Amino acid sequence: MANTKLGRLAPSAILAMETLAAAGFEAYLVGGAVRDMVMGRQPNDIDIATNALPGQVENLLKGNGRHSAGIKYGTVLGIFNGEEVQITTFRSEEGYEAYRRPLSVAFGVSLEDDLSRRDFTMNAMAADTKGALIDPFGGLKDIEARLVRCVGDPSKRFSEDALRILRAVRFASQLGFSIEPETLEAANCNKGLLAHISSERIKAEIEKMLLADPVKALINHNQIIMSVLPELLPIVDAPQNNPHHLYGVFEHTAVAISHCRACPIERWAALFHDAGKPGAATVDEEGIQHFEGHEAISVEIAQTILSRLKFSNKEASRILLLVKHHDDTIPPNLPGVKRWLSKIGQEAFWQLMSLKRADNLAQNYSCFPRDDEYSAIEQIASQVISGSECTTLSQLSVSGNDLINIGINQGPGLGKVLGELLSMVIDGDAQNEKEDLLRHASRLANSN
Ligand code: ATP
Ligand code: MG
Repeated sequence: MANTKLGRLAPSAILAMETLAAAGFEAYLVGGAVRDMVMGRQPNDIDIATNALPGQVENLLKGNGRHSAGIKYGTVLGIFNGEEVQITTFRSEEGYEAYRRPLSVAFGVSLEDDLSRRDFTMNAMAADTKGALIDPFGGLKDIEARLVRCVGDPSKRFSEDALRILRAVRFASQLGFSIEPETLEAANCNKGLLAHISSERIKAEIEKMLLADPVKALINHNQIIMSVLPELLPIVDAPQNNPHHLYGVFEHTAVAISHCRACPIERWAALFHDAGKPGAATVDEEGIQHFEGHEAISVEIAQTILSRLKFSNKEASRILLLVKHHDDTIPPNLPGVKRWLSKIGQEAFWQLMSLKRADNLAQNYSCFPRDDEYSAIEQIASQVISGSECTTLSQLSVSGNDLINIGINQGPGLGKVLGELLSMVIDGDAQNEKEDLLRHASRLANSN
């Protein structure tokens, strides 16, 4: 055991451990929070491991006037210092079913047994209330060497729970670590077992990976990633012989993802945006490649993946919209920008601009920078939005009822007239004033 001292633990963690210790139980901070403290990162969540049984933890919290949010999978959620703390009884896991879940868990084991069931050495450390590190598997050494290494035999650990394979890649992306060679070999050999993992867990891990700095992880571990996203396999070695590009499709994709904002929708859209390029590639007489119409193929590929990974309709339709329009031209003038704001709405507009900027940064940027054009578009959009200029039907100074009141029949024709009025206002061909619009409406209804 190393006698390294961590900095001061979070007051919520200390309070939880002291509450358990005062009742005679062992309690340690474990898992990601210890890893993050060793690395000087802000911990995500506080996990405490204890030899108290779940029922005992719950009674203790209630007896101390501490809120307890109930027991789920043997974990009691307590609130200390206004923060959530997860308290889990030391356990070992026995017999894994279908490469994804233990058949049974046993309580009454030691801290070291509990740490030994954890996935990676950096996640298998504990700390006591004084911040002394307990590190039976060499997590600290691996953190110093920036390595993701399985606890125990990597092949066995990955076949117990194949999700760990993706977790290894995700941690490599989040922490900028390499995967230790034996762990990596086992991950590659066992990647087929990821077929047994639920789409929700796969989605969560890939998303965490995309939200970090994923360029190296995507490129170095593309075969693992492609085992869960096989539709993207054709882009891995696809070239882009075109002066606008420095990278092949896959490297370009990875760099574009890293330039998007840390927004899941934008990052998934960047992952898919050029997926259709291999299917759309043509070569001209000078040997230059073109990819006309690739967006539509990218949309089809994205659709397949999004439905398999059970994205909500709302998330999927926004991602598909961004993929579809990523290469469209937004004219850097008032009517052009207003038309785009009207067509896709404000939120999607800013996401699309972020994707376009990221795409440009991942191309032959120094020769073809588009910052000035994009800044002009964004400046116009900001003015339109802050000036509450009309870009949507709801901002139009006439409603459907107003049109019915002047004798225009309800039905599809009415919607068409409203749409035409909106276009006129956006293009500056009509004022957004009721009188003016009603006059145009009568004329449009008669000519339709
Ligand atoms: P994050 O910062 O993303 O929360 P984390 O390390 O805390 O990272 P969690 O998924 O919250 O990750 O899991 C908490 C701890 O539980 C891990 O640090 C690890 O010790 C253990 N763990 C989680 N998932 C697994 C798994 N599939 N197999 C083995 N141990 C796991
Ligand atoms: Mg965690």
